[in-house]
Amino acid sequence: MNFDLGDEHKLVEQSTREWGAREVAPRIQQLDHEHTFDRGLLPKMAGLGLLGVCVPAKYGGAGMDYISLGIACEELEYVDTSLRVILSVHVGLNSLTLLSWGTEVQKQKYLVPQAQGKLIGSYGLTEPAAGSDARGIQTTAEKRGNRYVLNGEKMWISLADVADTFLVIAWTDQEKKKQKDPSGLSAFIIERTFKGFSSGSLTHKWGILAGNTGFFKMDNVEVPEENLVGKPGEGFKIAMFALDQGRLTVAAGATGLIRACRDASAKYALQRKAFGVEIGQHQLVKEMIAQMESDYQASRLLWLRSAWLKNEGRRNTRETGLAKWVSTVASERAASDAVQIHGANGYSDEYPVGRFYRNAKGAVIYEGTREIHKLMQADYVLGYRTDRPVRCELPPWRG
Ligand SMILES: Cc1cc2nc3c(=O)[nH]c(=O)nc-3n(C[C@H](O)[C@H](O)[C@H](O)COP(=O)(O)OP(=O)(O)OC[C@H]3O[C@@H](n4cnc5c(N)ncnc54)[C@H](O)[C@@H]3O)c2cc1C
Repeated sequence: MNFDLGDEHKLVEQSTREWGAREVAPRIQQLDHEHTFDRGLLPKMAGLGLLGVCVPAKYGGAGMDYISLGIACEELEYVDTSLRVILSVHVGLNSLTLLSWGTEVQKQKYLVPQAQGKLIGSYGLTEPAAGSDARGIQTTAEKRGNRYVLNGEKMWISLADVADTFLVIAWTDQEKKKQKDPSGLSAFIIERTFKGFSSGSLTHKWGILAGNTGFFKMDNVEVPEENLVGKPGEGFKIAMFALDQGRLTVAAGATGLIRACRDASAKYALQRKAFGVEIGQHQLVKEMIAQMESDYQASRLLWLRSAWLKNEGRRNTRETGLAKWVSTVASERAASDAVQIHGANGYSDEYPVGRFYRNAKGAVIYEGTREIHKLMQADYVLGYRTDRPVRCELPPWRG
């Protein structure tokens, strides 16, 4: 077993780290404060190859492995969660799903420009009345000739007002919808330019403020049947498959956030004095920093294992879910303690830790809440849950 990163990994790490520190870190507090998503970052991320980091070169990507995807996410979230979210929805949830389930025509039409950053992709599962219980969604897709007509509303969608393409889950079987039988769900590629599509941003969100989160509505949106992803009735499997990929990015990102909390806390603890010594000398402050370090190291190993399994082409739903759950819960703890270590200064946006705290909470909710992941892990242990093979798997990394 080799725990060293390869030269390519180190290159992704270094280039993403340097770019984030140079181009985003100096103005992230302001972007966050002003609730501004900076679209100008997208071409720069594309220039670094990040928007197609682990998409094969033949589909316009950088052809790197899934560990590189995780490294990029860790480095991006070290700066701000909003940057990592771009990779989560665009690469993790959308592009890797097209890579695995898309037709060759869909790959040429959508995956190639997405990997090059010419189109930005997102993912629409959640609705106003259904999140964890995906079978409760209401969006319908009615077949009419060689088209589907979609009606419904998606809510809490990352990049809703930014993305060009959306992987959308909808009911194609009305009888199964009534019974909440997920084999009645299907997946579609929807373009923003399709007639009847409209979107908006959520303005009352209190975290990931430099990111874009919103809703979109589909009012009799006509979708050519070529835009059906997989077969009719495979939508639920595709939605869950997408989450298997997205969760790696969330886990790696949360790991980066823990490291950011640790570094900010250590820096402050070496400067701030109380009772005649640096606060880093107080054992209870050390305890919080030690917890951050152990959470960082453990979370990193968990996401690395998940990415390695993906490289090998092995099923990793269980391992990736564990990585996502453990690291996001740990990042919330780390961010809370980082605020604590900063005392009253942590309660002000003069320091970054308040932003870390607000940002950390989101990841404990999206891509499977803490509770859903707990249930999943317990069910694996108890034997109530096993992963059945899916028709399309993520292609292993062949170098
Ligand atoms: C910042 C942000 C970005 C997002 N981006 C996207 C996106 O790009 N695309 C997308 O499709 N969605 C996105 N989401 C939505 C997200 O995936 C959902 O919010 C999430 O799945 C939870 O659904 P919900 O909010 O409806 O909560 P609910 O499902 O209503 O859950 C409410 C509470 O009940 C608990 N609960 C529910 N069921 C159970 C159970 N069986 N046992 C125990 N507890 C339970 C939950 O854990 C939670 O604590 C985003 C959300 C946020 C906050």
